[in-house]
Amino acid sequence: MNEPLRVAIVGSGPAAFYAAEHLLKRPETQVDMIERLPTPYGLVRGGVAPDHPKIKSVTAIYEKIAAQPGFRFFGNLEYGRHLSRADLEAHFHALLYATGAQTDRRLDLPGEDLPGSHSATEFVGWYNGHPDFRHRAFDLSCESVAIVGMGNVALDVARILCLTPRELRETDMADDAIEALSRSAVKDVYLIGRRGVVQAAFTTNEVRELGELEGADVIVSPAEAEVDAASAEEFAAGRISLKTKVEIVQGFARRAPAGRPRRLHMRFRLSPLELTEDARGKVALVRLARNELVRGPDGSVRAQATGEVEELRAGLVFRSVGYRGVPLPELPFDPRAGVIPNERGRMCDPQAGSALRGHYVSGWIKRGPTGVIGNNKADSVETANSLIEDAARGALLSPARPDPAAFEALVRERQPRVVTFEDWRRLDALEIERGRPQGRPRVKFTSVEEMLAALVRT
Ligand code: NAP
Repeated sequence: MNEPLRVAIVGSGPAAFYAAEHLLKRPETQVDMIERLPTPYGLVRGGVAPDHPKIKSVTAIYEKIAAQPGFRFFGNLEYGRHLSRADLEAHFHALLYATGAQTDRRLDLPGEDLPGSHSATEFVGWYNGHPDFRHRAFDLSCESVAIVGMGNVALDVARILCLTPRELRETDMADDAIEALSRSAVKDVYLIGRRGVVQAAFTTNEVRELGELEGADVIVSPAEAEVDAASAEEFAAGRISLKTKVEIVQGFARRAPAGRPRRLHMRFRLSPLELTEDARGKVALVRLARNELVRGPDGSVRAQATGEVEELRAGLVFRSVGYRGVPLPELPFDPRAGVIPNERGRMCDPQAGSALRGHYVSGWIKRGPTGVIGNNKADSVETANSLIEDAARGALLSPARPDPAAFEALVRERQPRVVTFEDWRRLDALEIERGRPQGRPRVKFTSVEEMLAALVRT
Protein backbone atom coordinates (compact mmCIF):
# COMPACT_ATOMS: atom_id res chain seq x y z
CA MET A 1 0.00 0.00 0.00
CA ASN A 2 1.59 3.31 -1.03
CA GLU A 3 -1.02 5.66 0.40
CA PRO A 4 -1.11 6.20 4.20
CA LEU A 5 -3.05 3.63 6.23
CA ARG A 6 -6.18 5.40 7.46
CA VAL A 7 -7.96 3.99 10.49
CA ALA A 8 -11.17 5.26 12.13
CA ILE A 9 -11.49 4.49 15.83
CA VAL A 10 -15.01 4.79 17.23
CA GLY A 11 -14.91 5.65 20.94
CA SER A 12 -12.30 7.58 22.92
CA GLY A 13 -11.83 5.68 26.17
CA PRO A 14 -8.64 3.88 27.27
CA ALA A 15 -9.04 1.03 24.74
CA ALA A 16 -9.41 3.56 21.91
CA PHE A 17 -6.32 5.57 22.94
CA TYR A 18 -4.12 2.48 23.48
CA ALA A 19 -5.13 1.21 20.03
CA ALA A 20 -4.31 4.62 18.50
CA GLU A 21 -0.94 4.67 20.29
CA HIS A 22 0.08 1.30 18.88
CA LEU A 23 -1.20 2.02 15.38
CA LEU A 24 0.61 5.35 15.24
CA LYS A 25 3.92 3.58 15.85
CA ARG A 26 3.54 2.22 12.33
CA PRO A 27 4.95 4.72 9.80
CA GLU A 28 2.47 6.32 7.40
CA THR A 29 -0.55 5.71 9.61
CA GLN A 30 -3.36 8.14 10.34
CA VAL A 31 -6.00 7.75 13.04
CA ASP A 32 -9.30 9.62 13.15
CA MET A 33 -11.04 9.14 16.50
CA ILE A 34 -14.82 9.55 16.55
CA GLU A 35 -16.60 10.25 19.84
CA ARG A 36 -20.31 10.77 20.54
CA LEU A 37 -19.65 13.31 23.33
CA PRO A 38 -17.68 16.55 22.91
CA THR A 39 -15.28 15.23 25.58
CA PRO A 40 -12.82 12.34 25.26
CA TYR A 41 -11.64 9.59 27.65
CA GLY A 42 -14.79 7.48 28.19
CA LEU A 43 -14.99 5.97 31.66
CA VAL A 44 -11.85 7.80 32.81
CA ARG A 45 -13.95 10.96 32.78
CA GLY A 46 -17.42 9.46 33.31
CA GLY A 47 -16.77 6.35 35.41
CA VAL A 48 -13.65 6.57 37.58
CA ALA A 49 -14.67 7.75 41.02
CA PRO A 50 -14.11 11.48 41.61
CA ASP A 51 -12.20 10.77 44.81
CA HIS A 52 -9.63 8.79 42.79
CA PRO A 53 -7.82 11.63 40.99
CA LYS A 54 -4.60 9.61 40.63
CA ILE A 55 -6.36 7.05 38.44
CA LYS A 56 -7.63 9.89 36.24
CA SER A 57 -4.09 11.21 35.72
CA VAL A 58 -3.69 8.50 33.04
CA THR A 59 -5.21 11.09 30.67
CA ALA A 60 -1.75 12.74 30.49
CA ILE A 61 -0.69 9.69 28.42
CA TYR A 62 -3.73 10.05 26.17
CA GLU A 63 -2.95 13.74 25.60
CA LYS A 64 0.52 12.77 24.36
CA ILE A 65 -1.02 10.23 21.98
CA ALA A 66 -3.43 12.87 20.70
CA ALA A 67 -0.55 15.28 20.06
CA GLN A 68 1.11 12.91 17.60
CA PRO A 69 1.10 13.74 13.91
CA GLY A 70 -1.53 11.66 12.14
CA PHE A 71 -4.06 11.85 15.01
CA ARG A 72 -7.36 13.73 14.72
CA PHE A 73 -10.34 13.84 17.11
CA PHE A 74 -13.92 14.35 16.02
CA GLY A 75 -16.13 14.82 19.10
CA ASN A 76 -19.88 15.41 19.26
CA LEU A 77 -20.10 13.03 16.32
CA GLU A 78 -22.04 9.79 16.59
CA TYR A 79 -21.57 6.59 14.62
CA GLY A 80 -25.04 5.41 13.55
CA ARG A 81 -26.46 8.95 13.72
CA HIS A 82 -24.16 11.25 11.77
CA LEU A 83 -22.20 8.52 10.02
CA SER A 84 -23.16 5.12 8.66
CA ARG A 85 -20.99 2.04 8.21
CA ALA A 86 -20.85 2.78 4.47
CA ASP A 87 -19.60 6.34 5.19
CA LEU A 88 -16.71 4.95 7.19
CA GLU A 89 -15.96 2.21 4.68
CA ALA A 90 -15.74 4.86 1.95
CA HIS A 91 -13.06 6.85 3.84
CA PHE A 92 -10.90 4.39 5.80
CA HIS A 93 -8.89 1.22 5.25
CA ALA A 94 -9.89 -0.08 8.65
CA LEU A 95 -12.51 0.65 11.32
CA LEU A 96 -11.85 -0.11 14.97
CA TYR A 97 -14.73 0.00 17.46
CA ALA A 98 -13.88 0.65 21.11
CA THR A 99 -17.29 1.67 22.39
CA GLY A 100 -17.11 -0.08 25.78
CA ALA A 101 -20.09 -1.49 27.66
CA GLN A 102 -22.63 1.29 27.79
CA THR A 103 -25.39 -0.24 29.86
CA ASP A 104 -25.74 -2.44 32.93
CA ARG A 105 -26.78 -6.00 33.72
CA ARG A 106 -30.14 -6.45 35.38
CA LEU A 107 -31.16 -8.66 38.27
CA ASP A 108 -34.51 -9.62 36.71
CA LEU A 109 -36.27 -9.59 40.07
CA PRO A 110 -39.74 -8.44 41.11
CA GLY A 111 -39.67 -4.80 42.18
CA GLU A 112 -36.45 -3.99 40.31
CA ASP A 113 -38.12 -1.08 38.50
CA LEU A 114 -39.72 0.51 41.57
CA PRO A 115 -38.91 4.17 42.18
CA GLY A 116 -35.79 4.24 44.32
CA SER A 117 -34.24 1.20 42.60
CA HIS A 118 -31.49 2.18 40.17
CA SER A 119 -28.48 0.85 38.36
CA ALA A 120 -25.05 1.82 39.66
CA THR A 121 -24.32 2.98 36.10
CA GLU A 122 -26.90 5.78 36.43
CA PHE A 123 -25.59 6.89 39.82
CA VAL A 124 -21.95 6.82 38.66
CA GLY A 125 -22.87 8.79 35.51
CA TRP A 126 -24.78 11.33 37.61
CA TYR A 127 -22.07 12.05 40.17
CA ASN A 128 -19.48 12.20 37.38
CA GLY A 129 -21.45 14.82 35.44
CA HIS A 130 -22.04 12.63 32.37
CA PRO A 131 -24.43 14.53 30.06
CA ASP A 132 -26.71 11.46 29.68
CA PHE A 133 -27.29 11.22 33.43
CA ARG A 134 -27.17 14.82 34.67
CA HIS A 135 -30.94 15.04 35.25
CA ARG A 136 -31.21 11.82 37.25
CA ALA A 137 -32.41 12.23 40.83
CA PHE A 138 -31.70 9.93 43.75
CA ASP A 139 -33.71 10.17 46.94
CA LEU A 140 -31.04 10.56 49.58
CA SER A 141 -33.59 11.35 52.29
CA CYS A 142 -33.69 7.71 53.42
CA GLU A 143 -31.40 6.33 56.12
CA SER A 144 -30.55 2.98 54.58
CA VAL A 145 -29.16 2.09 51.13
CA ALA A 146 -28.56 -1.38 49.68
CA ILE A 147 -26.02 -2.04 46.92
CA VAL A 148 -26.24 -5.44 45.25
CA GLY A 149 -22.83 -6.65 44.07
CA MET A 150 -19.28 -6.91 45.47
CA GLY A 151 -17.22 -5.55 42.60
CA ASN A 152 -15.19 -2.35 42.47
CA VAL A 153 -18.14 -0.36 41.10
CA ALA A 154 -20.25 -1.40 44.12
CA LEU A 155 -17.38 -0.27 46.39
CA ASP A 156 -17.13 3.06 44.53
CA VAL A 157 -20.87 3.68 45.03
CA ALA A 158 -20.66 2.73 48.72
CA ARG A 159 -17.63 4.98 49.31
CA ILE A 160 -19.15 7.95 47.50
CA LEU A 161 -22.30 7.62 49.65
CA CYS A 162 -20.08 7.77 52.74
CA LEU A 163 -17.87 10.78 51.83
CA THR A 164 -18.08 13.79 54.11
CA PRO A 165 -19.09 17.20 52.65
CA ARG A 166 -15.46 18.30 52.95
CA GLU A 167 -14.21 15.27 51.00
CA LEU A 168 -16.92 15.80 48.37
CA ARG A 169 -15.93 19.44 47.88
CA GLU A 170 -12.34 18.47 47.04
CA THR A 171 -13.38 16.46 43.98
CA ASP A 172 -14.39 17.14 40.39
CA MET A 173 -17.81 15.63 41.07
CA ALA A 174 -20.79 17.35 39.41
CA ASP A 175 -21.95 20.31 41.52
CA ASP A 176 -25.53 18.97 41.82
CA ALA A 177 -24.21 15.68 43.14
CA ILE A 178 -21.96 17.40 45.71
CA GLU A 179 -24.93 19.44 46.87
CA ALA A 180 -27.28 16.42 47.11
CA LEU A 181 -24.73 14.11 48.74
CA SER A 182 -23.75 16.80 51.28
CA ARG A 183 -27.37 16.93 52.43
CA SER A 184 -27.81 13.14 52.41
CA ALA A 185 -29.63 11.55 55.36
CA VAL A 186 -28.06 8.16 54.65
CA LYS A 187 -26.71 6.47 57.78
CA ASP A 188 -26.33 2.82 56.76
CA VAL A 189 -24.92 1.55 53.47
CA TYR A 190 -25.11 -2.21 52.81
CA LEU A 191 -22.92 -3.97 50.24
CA ILE A 192 -24.48 -7.34 49.39
CA GLY A 193 -22.42 -10.17 47.92
CA ARG A 194 -24.07 -13.40 46.85
CA ARG A 195 -20.92 -15.43 47.51
CA GLY A 196 -18.23 -15.21 50.20
CA VAL A 197 -15.25 -12.98 50.86
CA VAL A 198 -12.94 -15.35 48.92
CA GLN A 199 -15.00 -14.86 45.73
CA ALA A 200 -15.60 -11.11 46.13
CA ALA A 201 -14.87 -9.27 42.87
CA PHE A 202 -13.30 -6.17 44.47
CA THR A 203 -9.52 -5.66 44.45
CA THR A 204 -7.17 -5.22 47.41
CA ASN A 205 -6.52 -1.48 47.33
CA GLU A 206 -10.18 -0.71 46.83
CA VAL A 207 -11.33 -2.75 49.83
CA ARG A 208 -8.51 -1.45 52.03
CA GLU A 209 -9.70 2.08 51.31
CA LEU A 210 -13.08 1.35 52.91
CA GLY A 211 -11.32 0.99 56.24
CA GLU A 212 -9.79 4.46 55.86
CA LEU A 213 -13.02 6.40 55.43
CA GLU A 214 -13.24 9.50 57.59
CA GLY A 215 -17.02 9.44 57.84
CA ALA A 216 -17.94 5.75 58.13
CA ASP A 217 -17.18 2.65 60.17
CA VAL A 218 -16.94 -0.59 58.22
CA ILE A 219 -19.03 -3.32 59.79
CA VAL A 220 -18.55 -7.01 58.96
CA SER A 221 -19.80 -9.97 60.96
CA PRO A 222 -16.99 -12.40 61.84
CA ALA A 223 -19.15 -15.34 60.70
CA GLU A 224 -19.70 -13.84 57.24
CA ALA A 225 -16.00 -12.99 56.84
CA GLU A 226 -14.99 -16.59 57.52
CA VAL A 227 -13.50 -18.77 54.81
CA ASP A 228 -16.15 -21.51 54.57
CA ALA A 229 -15.42 -25.17 53.82
CA ALA A 230 -16.33 -24.91 50.11
CA SER A 231 -13.92 -22.00 49.60
CA ALA A 232 -11.00 -23.42 51.58
CA GLU A 233 -9.31 -24.94 48.53
CA GLU A 234 -9.75 -21.80 46.39
CA PHE A 235 -8.33 -19.76 49.26
CA ALA A 236 -5.35 -22.08 49.84
CA ALA A 237 -4.51 -22.12 46.13
CA GLY A 238 -5.11 -18.37 45.74
CA ARG A 239 -2.48 -15.74 45.16
CA ILE A 240 -1.14 -13.47 47.87
CA SER A 241 -3.54 -10.73 46.74
CA LEU A 242 -6.50 -12.99 47.56
CA LYS A 243 -5.11 -13.73 51.01
CA THR A 244 -4.54 -10.00 51.62
CA LYS A 245 -8.11 -9.19 50.55
CA VAL A 246 -9.57 -11.77 52.89
CA GLU A 247 -7.32 -10.61 55.75
CA ILE A 248 -8.44 -7.01 55.23
CA VAL A 249 -12.12 -7.97 55.48
CA GLN A 250 -11.45 -10.21 58.50
CA GLY A 251 -9.60 -7.27 60.05
CA PHE A 252 -12.73 -5.15 59.61
CA ALA A 253 -14.73 -7.87 61.39
CA ARG A 254 -12.42 -7.60 64.42
CA ARG A 255 -12.67 -3.81 64.64
CA ALA A 256 -14.89 -2.05 67.13
CA PRO A 257 -16.91 0.74 65.48
CA ALA A 258 -15.43 4.18 66.23
CA GLY A 259 -18.81 5.94 66.26
CA ARG A 260 -18.39 7.64 62.87
CA PRO A 261 -21.56 9.22 61.46
CA ARG A 262 -22.18 6.44 58.91
CA ARG A 263 -21.89 2.68 58.87
CA LEU A 264 -20.79 0.75 55.80
CA HIS A 265 -21.89 -2.88 56.17
CA MET A 266 -20.29 -5.60 54.06
CA ARG A 267 -22.65 -8.56 53.88
CA PHE A 268 -21.74 -11.90 52.31
CA ARG A 269 -23.63 -14.99 51.11
CA LEU A 270 -26.94 -13.18 50.47
CA SER A 271 -28.89 -13.01 47.19
CA PRO A 272 -31.73 -10.57 46.58
CA LEU A 273 -35.10 -12.24 45.95
CA GLU A 274 -37.37 -9.24 45.49
CA LEU A 275 -37.73 -5.53 46.21
CA THR A 276 -40.96 -4.44 47.87
CA GLU A 277 -42.60 -1.03 48.11
CA ASP A 278 -44.02 1.18 50.84
CA ALA A 279 -47.44 2.88 50.85
CA ARG A 280 -46.11 5.61 48.51
CA GLY A 281 -45.07 2.99 45.95
CA LYS A 282 -41.35 3.50 46.62
CA VAL A 283 -38.81 0.79 47.29
CA ALA A 284 -38.67 0.07 51.01
CA LEU A 285 -37.30 -3.40 51.56
CA VAL A 286 -35.07 -6.01 49.97
CA ARG A 287 -35.84 -9.67 50.70
CA LEU A 288 -32.63 -11.66 50.73
CA ALA A 289 -31.97 -15.38 50.54
CA ARG A 290 -29.23 -16.64 52.78
CA ASN A 291 -26.80 -18.77 50.79
CA GLU A 292 -24.36 -21.51 51.51
CA LEU A 293 -21.48 -22.07 49.16
CA VAL A 294 -21.10 -25.31 47.27
CA ARG A 295 -18.46 -26.60 44.89
CA GLY A 296 -19.71 -27.45 41.43
CA PRO A 297 -18.40 -30.40 39.37
CA ASP A 298 -15.95 -28.04 37.64
CA GLY A 299 -14.53 -26.94 41.00
CA SER A 300 -16.15 -23.49 40.93
CA VAL A 301 -17.79 -22.24 44.09
CA ARG A 302 -21.39 -21.13 43.71
CA ALA A 303 -24.14 -19.84 45.96
CA GLN A 304 -27.03 -22.08 46.91
CA ALA A 305 -30.05 -20.84 48.89
CA THR A 306 -30.42 -22.38 52.35
CA GLY A 307 -34.15 -21.56 52.52
CA GLU A 308 -33.52 -18.93 55.19
CA VAL A 309 -34.74 -15.44 54.25
CA GLU A 310 -33.73 -12.07 55.65
CA GLU A 311 -35.33 -8.66 55.17
CA LEU A 312 -33.32 -5.49 54.81
CA ARG A 313 -34.98 -2.07 54.98
CA ALA A 314 -33.63 0.21 52.24
CA GLY A 315 -35.12 3.36 50.73
CA LEU A 316 -32.61 3.32 47.89
CA VAL A 317 -31.29 0.27 46.08
CA PHE A 318 -28.50 0.09 43.52
CA ARG A 319 -27.77 -2.94 41.41
CA SER A 320 -24.06 -3.13 40.66
CA VAL A 321 -23.75 -6.52 39.01
CA GLY A 322 -21.68 -5.56 35.99
CA TYR A 323 -21.82 -3.45 32.85
CA ARG A 324 -23.14 -4.73 29.53
CA GLY A 325 -22.22 -3.96 25.90
CA VAL A 326 -24.87 -2.66 23.50
CA PRO A 327 -25.16 -3.50 19.78
CA LEU A 328 -23.87 -0.96 17.27
CA PRO A 329 -25.87 -0.18 14.13
CA GLU A 330 -25.07 -2.36 11.12
CA LEU A 331 -22.58 -4.55 13.00
CA PRO A 332 -22.73 -8.09 14.39
CA PHE A 333 -23.42 -8.60 18.09
CA ASP A 334 -23.54 -11.51 20.49
CA PRO A 335 -26.52 -10.70 22.74
CA ARG A 336 -25.70 -13.45 25.23
CA ALA A 337 -22.18 -12.21 25.98
CA GLY A 338 -22.93 -8.54 25.21
CA VAL A 339 -19.88 -8.25 22.93
CA ILE A 340 -19.08 -8.02 19.23
CA PRO A 341 -17.88 -11.47 18.10
CA ASN A 342 -14.19 -11.36 17.22
CA GLU A 343 -10.97 -13.28 17.00
CA ARG A 344 -7.95 -11.46 18.38
CA GLY A 345 -9.82 -8.22 17.70
CA ARG A 346 -10.85 -9.10 14.13
CA MET A 347 -14.62 -8.66 13.99
CA CYS A 348 -16.39 -11.88 12.96
CA ASP A 349 -19.53 -12.21 10.97
CA PRO A 350 -21.35 -15.08 12.70
CA GLN A 351 -23.53 -15.74 9.66
CA ALA A 352 -20.61 -16.08 7.25
CA GLY A 353 -18.44 -17.66 9.96
CA SER A 354 -15.47 -15.54 8.91
CA ALA A 355 -13.72 -12.28 9.77
CA LEU A 356 -15.36 -9.08 8.55
CA ARG A 357 -12.72 -7.46 6.34
CA GLY A 358 -11.37 -4.18 7.74
CA HIS A 359 -13.45 -4.27 10.95
CA TYR A 360 -11.89 -4.55 14.44
CA VAL A 361 -12.82 -4.21 18.09
CA SER A 362 -10.98 -3.55 21.34
CA GLY A 363 -11.76 -3.02 25.03
CA TRP A 364 -15.00 -4.01 26.77
CA ILE A 365 -17.02 -4.39 23.55
CA LYS A 366 -14.40 -6.97 22.52
CA ARG A 367 -13.83 -8.97 25.73
CA GLY A 368 -16.70 -7.96 28.07
CA PRO A 369 -16.68 -5.57 31.03
CA THR A 370 -13.74 -6.88 33.01
CA GLY A 371 -10.39 -5.56 34.14
CA VAL A 372 -8.95 -2.21 35.11
CA ILE A 373 -7.85 0.62 32.78
CA GLY A 374 -4.37 -0.84 32.26
CA ASN A 375 -5.75 -4.18 31.01
CA ASN A 376 -6.98 -2.36 27.90
CA LYS A 377 -3.43 -1.75 26.77
CA ALA A 378 -2.58 -5.39 26.00
CA ASP A 379 -6.08 -5.88 24.62
CA SER A 380 -5.74 -2.98 22.19
CA VAL A 381 -2.18 -3.89 21.21
CA GLU A 382 -3.48 -7.34 20.24
CA THR A 383 -6.18 -5.78 18.05
CA ALA A 384 -3.83 -3.21 16.53
CA ASN A 385 -1.36 -6.01 15.69
CA SER A 386 -4.11 -8.00 13.94
CA LEU A 387 -4.93 -4.86 11.93
CA ILE A 388 -1.28 -4.19 11.06
CA GLU A 389 -0.80 -7.82 9.99
CA ASP A 390 -3.86 -7.54 7.73
CA ALA A 391 -2.50 -4.29 6.27
CA ALA A 392 0.77 -6.08 5.45
CA ARG A 393 -1.08 -8.79 3.53
CA GLY A 394 -3.36 -6.33 1.75
CA ALA A 395 -6.46 -7.62 3.53
CA LEU A 396 -8.07 -4.30 4.46
CA LEU A 397 -10.76 -2.15 2.82
CA SER A 398 -10.18 -0.15 -0.37
CA PRO A 399 -11.85 3.18 0.40
CA ALA A 400 -13.12 5.28 -2.49
CA ARG A 401 -12.13 8.54 -0.75
CA PRO A 402 -9.05 8.00 1.47
CA ASP A 403 -8.15 11.71 1.53
CA PRO A 404 -8.31 13.09 5.14
CA ALA A 405 -9.83 16.34 3.80
CA ALA A 406 -12.69 14.39 2.20
CA PHE A 407 -13.63 12.81 5.52
CA GLU A 408 -13.43 16.14 7.34
CA ALA A 409 -15.68 17.73 4.72
CA LEU A 410 -18.26 14.96 5.17
CA VAL A 411 -18.13 15.33 8.96
CA ARG A 412 -18.63 19.10 8.81
CA GLU A 413 -21.57 18.66 6.47
CA ARG A 414 -23.24 16.08 8.74
CA GLN A 415 -22.32 17.72 12.06
CA PRO A 416 -21.31 21.39 11.81
CA ARG A 417 -20.80 21.45 15.60
CA VAL A 418 -18.04 18.86 15.56
CA VAL A 419 -15.48 19.27 18.39
CA THR A 420 -11.76 18.94 17.60
CA PHE A 421 -9.02 17.98 20.05
CA GLU A 422 -7.95 21.63 20.10
CA ASP A 423 -11.54 22.53 21.15
CA TRP A 424 -11.39 19.87 23.88
CA ARG A 425 -8.11 21.36 25.14
CA ARG A 426 -9.92 24.72 25.49
CA LEU A 427 -12.82 23.08 27.34
CA ASP A 428 -10.36 21.26 29.57
CA ALA A 429 -8.56 24.53 30.41
CA LEU A 430 -11.90 26.24 31.14
CA GLU A 431 -13.01 23.45 33.49
CA ILE A 432 -9.69 23.57 35.35
CA GLU A 433 -9.95 27.37 35.57
CA ARG A 434 -13.49 27.09 37.02
CA GLY A 435 -12.20 24.70 39.70
CA ARG A 436 -9.25 26.86 40.80
CA PRO A 437 -11.06 29.31 43.12
CA GLN A 438 -12.69 26.36 44.91
CA GLY A 439 -9.46 24.37 45.21
CA ARG A 440 -10.97 21.61 43.07
CA PRO A 441 -9.29 19.79 40.14
CA ARG A 442 -11.98 21.09 37.78
CA VAL A 443 -15.64 22.04 37.62
CA LYS A 444 -17.08 20.01 34.77
CA PHE A 445 -19.46 21.14 32.09
CA THR A 446 -22.24 18.58 32.34
CA SER A 447 -24.38 19.33 29.28
CA VAL A 448 -23.43 19.22 25.63
CA GLU A 449 -25.11 22.60 25.05
CA GLU A 450 -23.09 24.15 27.87
CA MET A 451 -19.88 22.76 26.37
CA LEU A 452 -20.65 24.04 22.88
CA ALA A 453 -21.68 27.46 24.21
CA ALA A 454 -18.42 27.74 26.18
CA LEU A 455 -16.47 26.99 23.00
CA VAL A 456 -18.28 29.72 21.10
CA ARG A 457 -17.50 32.26 23.86
CA THR A 458 -13.75 31.58 23.99
P1 NAP B 1 -17.61 -7.01 38.50
O1 NAP B 1 -16.23 -6.83 39.00
O2 NAP B 1 -17.86 -8.01 37.45
O3 NAP B 1 -18.52 -7.37 39.80
C1 NAP B 1 -19.86 -7.74 39.67
C2 NAP B 1 -20.41 -8.19 41.02
O4 NAP B 1 -21.80 -8.45 40.86
C3 NAP B 1 -19.78 -9.47 41.54
O5 NAP B 1 -19.67 -9.38 42.95
C4 NAP B 1 -20.84 -10.53 41.17
O6 NAP B 1 -20.87 -11.66 42.03
C5 NAP B 1 -22.11 -9.74 41.39
N1 NAP B 1 -23.26 -10.28 40.68
C6 NAP B 1 -23.38 -10.56 39.37
N2 NAP B 1 -24.61 -11.00 39.09
C7 NAP B 1 -25.29 -11.02 40.27
C8 NAP B 1 -26.61 -11.37 40.64
N3 NAP B 1 -27.50 -11.80 39.73
N4 NAP B 1 -26.97 -11.26 41.94
C9 NAP B 1 -26.09 -10.82 42.84
N5 NAP B 1 -24.83 -10.45 42.56
C10 NAP B 1 -24.43 -10.56 41.28
O7 NAP B 1 -18.24 -5.67 37.92
P2 NAP B 1 -18.08 -4.13 38.29
O8 NAP B 1 -18.00 -3.89 39.76
O9 NAP B 1 -19.16 -3.47 37.51
O10 NAP B 1 -16.68 -3.72 37.65
C11 NAP B 1 -16.42 -3.83 36.25
C12 NAP B 1 -14.91 -3.79 36.01
O11 NAP B 1 -14.42 -2.47 36.25
C13 NAP B 1 -14.14 -4.71 36.95
O12 NAP B 1 -13.10 -5.32 36.26
C14 NAP B 1 -13.61 -3.77 38.00
O13 NAP B 1 -12.45 -4.20 38.66
C15 NAP B 1 -13.35 -2.51 37.17
N6 NAP B 1 -13.34 -1.33 38.05
C16 NAP B 1 -12.16 -1.00 38.62
C17 NAP B 1 -12.10 0.06 39.50
C18 NAP B 1 -10.80 0.40 40.16
O14 NAP B 1 -9.76 -0.10 39.76
N7 NAP B 1 -10.77 1.24 41.18
C19 NAP B 1 -13.24 0.81 39.80
C20 NAP B 1 -14.44 0.45 39.19
C21 NAP B 1 -14.48 -0.64 38.30
P3 NAP B 1 -20.28 -13.08 41.57
O15 NAP B 1 -18.79 -12.95 41.70
O16 NAP B 1 -20.89 -14.04 42.50
O17 NAP B 1 -20.70 -13.28 40.13
